[in-house]
Amino acid sequence: MTQSQAQQGVFHIWELDLGAIENNVVIVDLDGTLVASGQGTIVGEAKGVLETLRTRNDVFLFSNHVDRERLARLAEEHGVSHISSLRRKPDPRILHDIPSSRHTQRVVIGDRAMTDGLFAHLIGARFIKVRRAKNGEESIALRVVYWVDDAVFFFVRAIKRFT
Ligand SMILES: [Mg+2]
Repeated sequence: MTQSQAQQGVFHIWELDLGAIENNVVIVDLDGTLVASGQGTIVGEAKGVLETLRTRNDVFLFSNHVDRERLARLAEEHGVSHISSLRRKPDPRILHDIPSSRHTQRVVIGDRAMTDGLFAHLIGARFIKVRRAKNGEESIALRVVYWVDDAVFFFVRAIKRFT
């Protein structure tokens, strides 16, 4: 991966050099990462993302969204697995619901520091924060959640830089 720490969150998932991720268990967040929150289809440039990742990695799609059927369907449509867990990120016990893999290194790709980022930290994975996928139809409540999450990410990163 060529993106430096300083560029975390700058690029959409489809703008990343995903071919550089090899021999990993890759856990990809769905909502806000591959699609705008709640969206039922993976569209545009995001379509090729899972195909690229799955050639050299074990890829698992996951979301905290309540609609587990959509998660399973999208994973199947794009030739990857999904994590069927009733737990929500950042609960590290989600790891027990991931089938064993020949790969030992893990990467979590997601748009939110407080769920995806913390989850990655707790399971010993590398976290790649992406620029959020949005469609302008996000509720006020979701916008607030996003704003708080981005603020936390900004401050945590700033603190890390100055200490
Ligand atoms: Mg998300």
